Amino acid sequence: MIVVMAAGSSDSELAAVRERIESKGLKAQINLGVERTVVGVVGSIPPDFKDEVELLEGVSDVVMISKPYKLASREFHPDDTIIKVGSAVIGGPSPVIMAGPCSVEDEEQMVSTAKAVKKAGATVLRGGAFKPRTSPYSFRGMGEDGLKLLNLAKQETGLPIITEVMATEDVDTVAKYADILQIGARNMQNYNLLDAVGELGKPVMVKRGLAASYEEWLLAAEYVMAGGNEEVILCERGIRGFESFTRFTLDVAAVPVVQRLSHLPIVADPSHSTGKWYLVTPVALASVAAGAHGLLIEVHPNPDIAKCDGPQSLTFENFDMLMQQVDAIASVRKQPVAAN
Ligand code: PEP
Ligand code: MN
Repeated sequence: MIVVMAAGSSDSELAAVRERIESKGLKAQINLGVERTVVGVVGSIPPDFKDEVELLEGVSDVVMISKPYKLASREFHPDDTIIKVGSAVIGGPSPVIMAGPCSVEDEEQMVSTAKAVKKAGATVLRGGAFKPRTSPYSFRGMGEDGLKLLNLAKQETGLPIITEVMATEDVDTVAKYADILQIGARNMQNYNLLDAVGELGKPVMVKRGLAASYEEWLLAAEYVMAGGNEEVILCERGIRGFESFTRFTLDVAAVPVVQRLSHLPIVADPSHSTGKWYLVTPVALASVAAGAHGLLIEVHPNPDIAKCDGPQSLTFENFDMLMQQVDAIASVRKQPVAAN
């Protein structure tokens, strides 16, 4: 349920609404929007409570949210959520580029990549230290030693870090180093993990599950938000279709759909969705043209010898070319990303 306060309603009227909500054991989440103040009511709403709140002073409307996700819905939060990390503003009109290797391998690889992607215009550095791999025999990441190398690259370049956390017991360790914690596609429905990152005071990026519907994906975001963490970014990384030429199928419509259903920023990952380096730039451009708030791109100094995802990784030179083309598309994108 959401309570829409009347234009010009007073602080004491808002406080009375909050008190009434809390007196029922419910949580009130207040959103001081540009045009109107909205109070989200979280919890199991008793019968007749809607009618009761409608009568309170300063209330203009009470709306039952029809969607199963509430805090993540556009109804609850009409303005776009903007998340600031370092110099990156995620959710605004300019796409934010997060780039780096699939996995952290060594100091030279990490620092040289950080410098190269920064020079080309990326504002967030990626790199996996805990890697979800299909085969248990593949390289599964350096763990905390990898996080230390990410931190070193951050010291060298000033770029904030996004990195994946795979297990609830690693959340505190990863949060010590990461500026944004990534929930991988395979963990999108790991509800204990979502609860754990919901308690953090750091942004979380939730990648879409391999076969997740929009609703399931937004409900995963809702888990994080229900824990009190409102800084959630969504990432379309491709879904499983029947085509095997590409690794997955990037659902470009997910970008405007999510912007209609939700206020959360949405970025696209053309690397994992295509699985092929020469498809990364065209799919990145399509995503930006569709209004994506950012891109996640894998870059490696020498993709031929990468320990993970070499075939989809861009060289420094190819990444530089991608950035120039992204800039060109972003500058002609006519309508604001949240337009519906
Ligand atoms: C990744 O970004 O490193 C990754 C493993 O992606 P996904 O979870 O989308 O497969
Ligand atoms: Mn990868």
